[in-house]
Amino acid sequence: MKRLYRSLRLPLCVLLTITLLWTAVNSAQAAESVKLSPEQQRYERRLLFENISLMTGIPWYCLAAVDQYERTLSSANPKKYPKREGLIAIRFPDEKWAGPFNPNPQDTDLRTIRMFGGIGQDGDGDGKADIKNDTDVLYTFAMEFLQKGYSDEDFTISLWDYYHNPRSVKRIDQFAKIYRHFDTLELTRHVFTLPLRSNYSYRSTWGDARGWGGRRIHEGTDIFANHGVPVRSTSYGIIEIKGWNKYGGWRVGIRDIHNIYHYYAHLSGFNKGIEEGTIVQPGDVVGWVGSSGYGKPGTQGKFPPHLHYGLYRDSGLVDWSFDPYPSLKQWEREEYRAKRKK
Ligand SMILES: [Zn+2]
Repeated sequence: MKRLYRSLRLPLCVLLTITLLWTAVNSAQAAESVKLSPEQQRYERRLLFENISLMTGIPWYCLAAVDQYERTLSSANPKKYPKREGLIAIRFPDEKWAGPFNPNPQDTDLRTIRMFGGIGQDGDGDGKADIKNDTDVLYTFAMEFLQKGYSDEDFTISLWDYYHNPRSVKRIDQFAKIYRHFDTLELTRHVFTLPLRSNYSYRSTWGDARGWGGRRIHEGTDIFANHGVPVRSTSYGIIEIKGWNKYGGWRVGIRDIHNIYHYYAHLSGFNKGIEEGTIVQPGDVVGWVGSSGYGKPGTQGKFPPHLHYGLYRDSGLVDWSFDPYPSLKQWEREEYRAKRKK
């Protein structure tokens, strides 16, 4: 019986691979032929991750995390990280794909690519290694990573070798945890940070001189509300920082899947179960409005209670503050609209 199984295993694998490749080719072609909505794109992308995961053994959420990280770099800094056309954002330079001395940088011929030391691989089984083909690109990426080994630790080592940047490794690890937790790429929903029924007021104050201490410009929006009003995560994400900071008081930092850092400061306390590494979704209470900050841990009451909400975009090496006011307004509107529909 064992022998029969063994003799069947290879043909079964081949059959499985062919089926998968066929599906992958089809989805890649579908992506090219018609303009897909963002939801359809995420659906097709997930299929691609699943296929390459079955072929290589790398979990889909690891592939998704690297791909999403590359996408966020492109949107933060399109000059430095030009956006790749297609479903997959992972990019290879032509000379790496085709080989540094290949006279044809757009080469798709596996033989000559190998001869010139290129890494391009054929993922969809059409006999070509095409840098414009999503399946080929993702498969090549996965195979590059597999050279180190199969464990989570090996994957982390491969990330180190690939990026030479501890921030990148950390981000991809955070994204992978978020994707694994929710088991979906559909993580775009947002809510307003305070419950809509609570009393609050805010206006655009980004870039103003600070009202309380500090010489830097005001990097955020102050939302005035009563002490003890729940502060909710506006996005899907992972708690990156929790604790005391001299200016921010009790504060929480949440990293979302768009590589944006959400900063909630001056809290009166933290919700139970909120720790560094905790995964949150829109509406999860992280703490309560307070007036902590501007002194030793526990200092409070130097200003009226409010939530200081900041947004920072990771551009690869540093986080850049941007005005949260338009996003807050939009999420507030969207949440009202969603409530009315119910
Ligand atoms: Zn503030």
